[in-house]
Parts: sequence; C-alpha cells; structure tokens
Amino acid sequence: MADYDFDFYVIGAGSGGVRCARMSASYGARVGVAEERYLGGTCVNVGCVPKKLFSYGSHFAGDFEDAAAYGWNVGAATLDWKRLIENKNREILRLNGIYRRILDNNNVTIHEARATLKDAHTLDVGGQIITADKILVATGGWPSVPDFPGKEHAITSNEAFFLEELPKRTIIVGGGYIAVEFAGILHGYGSHVTQLYRGDLFLRGFDNDLRTHLAGEMKKQGIDLRFNANIARIEKTGDVLVATLEDGSILEADAVMYATGRVPNTRDIGLEELGVEMKRDGSIIVDDHFQTNVPNIHALGDVIDRYQLTPVAISEAMVLSANLFNGKNLAMDYADIPTAVFSHPNIGTVGLTEEAAREQFGDVDIYRSIFKPMKHTLTDRDEQTLMKLIVDKASDRVVGCHMVGADAGELIQGMGVALKAGATKAQFDATVGIHPTAAEEFVTMREAVS
Ligand code: NDP
Repeated sequence: MADYDFDFYVIGAGSGGVRCARMSASYGARVGVAEERYLGGTCVNVGCVPKKLFSYGSHFAGDFEDAAAYGWNVGAATLDWKRLIENKNREILRLNGIYRRILDNNNVTIHEARATLKDAHTLDVGGQIITADKILVATGGWPSVPDFPGKEHAITSNEAFFLEELPKRTIIVGGGYIAVEFAGILHGYGSHVTQLYRGDLFLRGFDNDLRTHLAGEMKKQGIDLRFNANIARIEKTGDVLVATLEDGSILEADAVMYATGRVPNTRDIGLEELGVEMKRDGSIIVDDHFQTNVPNIHALGDVIDRYQLTPVAISEAMVLSANLFNGKNLAMDYADIPTAVFSHPNIGTVGLTEEAAREQFGDVDIYRSIFKPMKHTLTDRDEQTLMKLIVDKASDRVVGCHMVGADAGELIQGMGVALKAGATKAQFDATVGIHPTAAEEFVTMREAVS
C-alpha cells in the first residue's frame, strides 16, 4: 500500500466525494481528491442550495400579498434580480470555501483538475500522474436534454441559476423534481410559467393524491400546467423563442428550460477502457459495498443508479469510508428515505405510495385530510393542504406518510424517524398534537377514508 501516492483517491468533490474523502482521512488514510469544476458539486453550486435560496426568495411575493390581511400596508414590491443572483453567488462562494477548509483540515490533498483513470491504480490528474490503492468515482450527474431541432436555445437548471434577468415568460419541460420546483420559483418571482409534461400527470413515482393535489394548487396559482404536451422544435426570432409543440400549437417565451433528468458523469474518464461495468444510461454498477467489477474502484452518489439525493450520497459515503478504513462491514439502508420537492407548496413524503402499499400489503387503511391552512383563514389565498397516512391493516404500522403544504419538507423529516422506528397508527394516535399547527393533523386523523 505504501508504494502508492495515496491510500484513497476520490474523483469528484461533491457531497458524496467530500464526505467519503474526509471520513476516510479521519480514519487514517492518505487521501487525495480531484475536482475539475467546483467544490461542493451539484448540491452546493447548481442544486439544493441555490434552489432553496431561490425558493425562499420567490415566496415573498405571496407574503407581500397576504400581509395586507394581517394589517400591514406594504408598498408596491419590485424585484432586483441581479441583487438576488449576486447575493446567492456570494453565499455559494462562502460554501466553496467551507468545503475547501473541511478537506484541508482533514489533510486531504485537493487537486483542482480533471482526473482520468489510466489503469486500476493510476490516474492522470491535470497532467500529473498519481497512483492510489483504492479509488472512488463520485463524479455526479449532469442535466440531460433530448435531441430536437432548436435544442441549442434551451437552458437547463445549470444556466437557470445564473440568468442575467428574470424571463418574462418561461417554458419548463419535464415533470420531475427540478421542473416542478423551478415552475414554482419562477412563477413566484413573476415570470409567466408554462410547464409541459409528456405524460398524463407529473411526478411519476409519487403518491397519486400528492400529484393530483399539487397540480391543482399550481394551476390555481396561475401556472399554465399542460400534460401530454411536449416541444417539437424551437426557433429564435430576435430575442423571442418560438416553441412549436407536438400538437402543432405555438408558444412564445423568453426562456425555455429543460428539466428532463440527469445523466451520470462517466464519459471520458477511463472507465470504459478499464472495463468498469456500467448500465446503458452510463451509471456505474456497484455491489452492496459500492464496489465495481474492478475490485479497488468504488462509486457512489448520482453516478450510480440509485437515488439522486445529496443525503443519500452522504450516507453512502459514511458506509464506504467506514468499511474501507474503519474495519466495518456496513450496508446502506435505503428503506424509508424521506424526501421533499420544494414546489410551491412543498411536497414532503416518506414510505410507500398508496399504490405500492396496496401491492405490498393488500389490505391498507388510508387517512386523508385536506384543509385550508390557518394562515390563509385571514387572506384570500385559495390554498389547500393535503396530509395522508397509509397504514398496513395487519400490523397497524404506518407505511406511508405524505403531505402537500407549507413547510412539508421540514415536517416530514420527523415523520421519517417515526416510520424508520416502525411506528404504528396506535402510536401516532397516542401522540399529543401541537396546536395550532398543520403537523398535528398527522396525529389526529381518526377516520379511515377507505
Ligand atoms: P427527474 O428524473 O426527477 O424527472 C425528469 C422528468 O423529465 C420526468 O418528468 C420525465 O418524464 C421527463 N422527461 C425525461 N425525458 C424526457 C424527454 N425526452 N422529453 C420530455 N420529458 C422527459 O429529473 P430532474 O431533472 O427533475 O431531477 C434529477 C434528480 O435530481 C431527481 O430525480 C432527484 O433525484 C434530484 N433532485 C432532488 C431534489 C430534491 O431533493 N428536492 C431537487 C432537484 C433534483 P417521465 O416521468 O415520463 O419519465
């Protein structure tokens, strides 16, 4: 082992790579990490963090309107988009610095360059040849845009975080996390948003009640949500983008954003040459210990085909580093991963959808509550919160917990603990509510709806 420059070399300083590098170093390994773009990866630079900041910011529009009902006289609000971008960029820069310090403080060597695998133990890192005993590929993913005429006029979330100005009219294509989140964000900031999704109902894979409820809420806000719709081509006339849809109708916009999924960054880093097995979508195939078919090469995070979620990548990194350098034999537990979509309003969800629970358990009880949030009893806002529990009748265990409503992401985290602990409906019922909150609904729903 001592013959190598490093015990462990990590390609990619995103959430998973940084965590794995620093934990491995803390267990005594000599660790290096290569990053060609930005420290902190997608989440910090063009993902979770700036998205959440944008989401906070865009909520002010509704708050300014609602304030009047609470006695406030608020003057006409105007938006300085450039200031938002500058402030956001400053915060990201601060976080980049924190990531650098985390690595420095743990004696991880940082190479700000592209790394390419030359053989199972040799890397070319910006022209420098480096050897390592074990290697981790944590190169994340990149937005994927399908091919169509005029594709070059479309942007992705990468560019959306750096727009020079807020587009007056935006078309968003896709029906996943990013499309739904950006529809809410840009609408909140005042852009006229049209969201196109190719299927009958967006957010495939989420509980159907959540999907339907959120679609209804977004339409009420004035988002032009169109299902079974897609772009055939885009032409540019002056500054205006003219999108012709597959049904022949035409939409004009100032920006067209594609949020049609993300593909793993596995091209041109020497993986094919080394014979590392990948799926057709380019994701790296790993076993329960994040090991590829080349035994000393590991992979985790968005580059493997599991969950494209930062906290999952971090958990995987904790498992891998402990297994490699702290004598453990842990496996990652993927059950009951809570997740939030920062749509307006938020989705928060953990456990099984109703459809999956019916398939798995057969006999399930559904508890559902739809109500006007207390905040809007004084305002004119027509917003409804949805909360839903799915209970396996045989065991009384709560196997799914779902919400569409303000702060659902915050609220579902606690529910995640309850589900992970195997809480029963009787235990939910025995829990005293916190009044007045929306959250108390989860412990006060008594009548099953089916
Ligand atoms: P998703 O995979 O979630 O969604 C992609 C969407 O694009 C789907 O609706 C899909 O439709 C649609 N689509 C795919 N290909 C095409 C095409 N050729 N033409 C039209 N539509 C298409 O990807 P995102 O880009 O939204 O996000 C990537 C991942 O990042 C997420 O899955 C999530 O794991 C993660 N993420 C997490 C966030 C969070 O935790 N809050 C926030 C943002 C991202 P269909 O369903 O029909 O396949």
